[in-house]
Amino acid sequence: MKKHNFSAGPCILPQEVFEKSAQSVLNFNHSDLSILEISHRSKDFVAVMEEVRALVLEFLGLEGKGYQALFLQGGASLEFLRVPYNLLNVDGKAAYLDTGTWANNAIKEAKLFGETVIVASSKEENYNHIPTNYTIPEDASYFHCTSNNTIFGTQMKSFPKTAVPIVCDMSSDIFSRTLDFSQFDLIYAGAQKNMGAAGTTLVVVKESILGKSGRAIPSILDYQKHIKAESMYNTPAVFAVYTCLLTLQWLKKQGGIAGIEKINEAKASLLYNEIDRNTMFRGTAVKADRSIMNATFLLENPELQESFDKMWKEAGISGLTGHRSVGGYRASMYNALPLESVQVLVDVMKEFETLYSTQSQLAE
Ligand SMILES: *Cc1c(COP(=O)(O)O)cnc(C)c1O
Repeated sequence: MKKHNFSAGPCILPQEVFEKSAQSVLNFNHSDLSILEISHRSKDFVAVMEEVRALVLEFLGLEGKGYQALFLQGGASLEFLRVPYNLLNVDGKAAYLDTGTWANNAIKEAKLFGETVIVASSKEENYNHIPTNYTIPEDASYFHCTSNNTIFGTQMKSFPKTAVPIVCDMSSDIFSRTLDFSQFDLIYAGAQKNMGAAGTTLVVVKESILGKSGRAIPSILDYQKHIKAESMYNTPAVFAVYTCLLTLQWLKKQGGIAGIEKINEAKASLLYNEIDRNTMFRGTAVKADRSIMNATFLLENPELQESFDKMWKEAGISGLTGHRSVGGYRASMYNALPLESVQVLVDVMKEFETLYSTQSQLAE
């Protein structure tokens, strides 16, 4: 039986994506050839790339608005440096919001390119919330933020209004909720959390912000070169890109982003209500900033860890162990995770309370 997979990434994808992508390795589009042995410039693969790029802009509501969708390589981590390479003016500065580990990694790379202003940080509180009331310098080349903090379980519910271009790392909540995506000038997301197999990164960029940094950019790092080559400057990660197409085709059948958002909200409230109700657990993120994708929580009595771990593992749950920088548990509820899996977890939490609540009172 399939596990209830709460892994943070790589993570669960729709079952039909596993099945269809497996089939494509054996016989792609009835061609009697594997997707892994054909030219990326063949008619069949070019059609995959064109369709997936078009679907991205369609889902985000960005068609005909001057944006381009690219499927690049190097993970979100390469965008940490490709962004300043392309956008940070030679004698300019970049503004960053520090909301966790990934934001920090992005800041580290930007510092190699020029002045980096951290407009606000929640580091002092171990990133349990999203800072508010900060100012973005008007002369910054861009403002960078992380929409969903995969490790700390916080999520930005709104974004600042600014004349400065906004760059957003959406690796762990892309296509999970409706937003006005035209408020962003550049969005990037590693595929392996809500889109497809690891190996490709989605970049959605407003073309008008490019070509202004005054830097000489190596071709493979230059967004403009990738746009000109229609995301085929060099051999793309064909299999990973194909899995992204299959996921987006699946998403369309779920009613697109608006359809999946309803289910994501139902999953998140089911789990958060239990975390808040159950005397054995406590959430780590400030309620208003809780992520609908990654829920982080702790045991009130850490001594019961072994007992709780045994129970969820026996229930067929996988990938619930928290990241070492928060500890406890992290339930990642990406688009493909069914509501039933969250229900299984909630049932285990209730049963755990029934079995151990008196015992934990005695221990106090
Ligand atoms: C996972 C993750 C990354 C890192 O992605 P890679 O593709 O492994 O480089 C960056 N940002 C966020 C928000 C993530 O969740």
